[in-house]
Amino acid sequence: MSILTQSQEGSSHLMMGNEAIVRGAIEAGISVAAGYPGTPSSEIIDTFSKISTDIYSEWSVNEKVAMEVAAAGSFAGLRSMAVMKQPGLNVAADFLMHLALSGIRAGMVLLAADDPGALSSINEGETRLYSRLMEIPMLEPGNFQEAKDMTKWAFELSEELGIIVLVRTVTRLSHASGNVILGEIIPQNKTAFFKHDGDMLDPMEGLIMTPPVSVKHSAQQEKLKKAATLFETSPFNTYEGPDNPELIIITSSICDLYSKEAVDLTGLTDRFGVFKLGTTWPLPAALVETILNKTEKILFVEEVQPFVEDNVKAFAAGLGNSLSRTQFFGKQTNHIPMIGELNPDLVVDALLSLFDLEYEAVPASYTQKTRAIVGKGVPPREISFCPGCPHRASYFSINKVLKLDNRQGFVCGDIGCYSMGMLPGGFFTLQTLHSMGSGSGLASGFGELSKFGLKQPVLSVCGDSTFFHSGMPPLINAIHNSSAFTMVILDN
Ligand code: SF4
Repeated sequence: MSILTQSQEGSSHLMMGNEAIVRGAIEAGISVAAGYPGTPSSEIIDTFSKISTDIYSEWSVNEKVAMEVAAAGSFAGLRSMAVMKQPGLNVAADFLMHLALSGIRAGMVLLAADDPGALSSINEGETRLYSRLMEIPMLEPGNFQEAKDMTKWAFELSEELGIIVLVRTVTRLSHASGNVILGEIIPQNKTAFFKHDGDMLDPMEGLIMTPPVSVKHSAQQEKLKKAATLFETSPFNTYEGPDNPELIIITSSICDLYSKEAVDLTGLTDRFGVFKLGTTWPLPAALVETILNKTEKILFVEEVQPFVEDNVKAFAAGLGNSLSRTQFFGKQTNHIPMIGELNPDLVVDALLSLFDLEYEAVPASYTQKTRAIVGKGVPPREISFCPGCPHRASYFSINKVLKLDNRQGFVCGDIGCYSMGMLPGGFFTLQTLHSMGSGSGLASGFGELSKFGLKQPVLSVCGDSTFFHSGMPPLINAIHNSSAFTMVILDN
């Protein structure tokens, strides 16, 4: 039996961030979990399906359907979770906007896993901005213990507020491991019933829909205000440092660890403080104001976009002259990189650029130099298909045929292992690569351009999962509009 389902309250166990999230959901009494696979989120649904028989878990056909499946659980009184990586939230966004407005019943958590640095993605998209756009509360765990504890709390918070709560993780938290102290597994209602015959506007017994929009939107605003009030005293917002430091780092997520390590490396814990926001949206205004009043220098450290930076600065601007001497540093001032993952050295670099410190950070060139030295002894190895993967043969054939045809035919690529068709291992076969299903949508468009002189053969490739996820609508569109292209479904 997995430790993730055993009581053992108070015992400490080494677990992956994604396992800690699963444990947090189990402690909260989750019943329904649905998701669409994508690194770094995939282990969550995988783990649910392996360890527990009293949880319904599924790989859904896409992220929007996953959120709908999970929402049905919540509507029927069961705690539920929708799981996806960052581009998946774009797919689910339409339903999310309406779900945020309609409200939920039993606690419902949206777990979004971002991939700063695009280690296993073709973008560095940010899900945090959705919390503002969709007007939903957001939590960001900063370590493995918080991954469990915040997930558990997110269900309670969601239920208390009657709104879905976004828990945002990143690759280095989801895929790294750390010690987690287990908590109590709270028994929850496991009987599903969808009550709908109460007063129409009764959130627990009436209809669950967005109209009347003005009424529901007002209620949503009240939920956010209540969330902000609850966040003021949340133990997940922490400050470490002197009472009146020379500078405070405001950070969130795994960057909390980078920031604390950076301050430790400089040996100046008596001069710098670190304020970690765990409840990133809505901002706990009074708490943030207290932090801002402690110092005249603020450095924002976060991945990837300046989300906290922009929100705190906008809030500070609203405070008027009381903070007129405060200086803000971060991505907008080029002290912290605007792209990619951060690390403690980058934070030390930022501190060195602001203060005259006796510390030599490891320069960025060190990594390049190390790679160059190591590279001499180790032959470079391109990311490629597994031995025996059928995609390699498919691309070899497509490539050969297009060359023999000799009309500069091209292939619109799609998302999955077969995206590696753009690399040497895939014979550089792909000429476009965007989002799930977009290869066939683009091909559908290219296939209509013969009247403008386009005579090149047009192909698209689409994996079997991508086909069901979002590859079917472009195919239907192409057939309906008589678009001339060849769609190759790579069924591995
Ligand atoms: S599709 Fe190919 S490359 Fe991807 S996991 Fe399967 S065998 Fe490996």
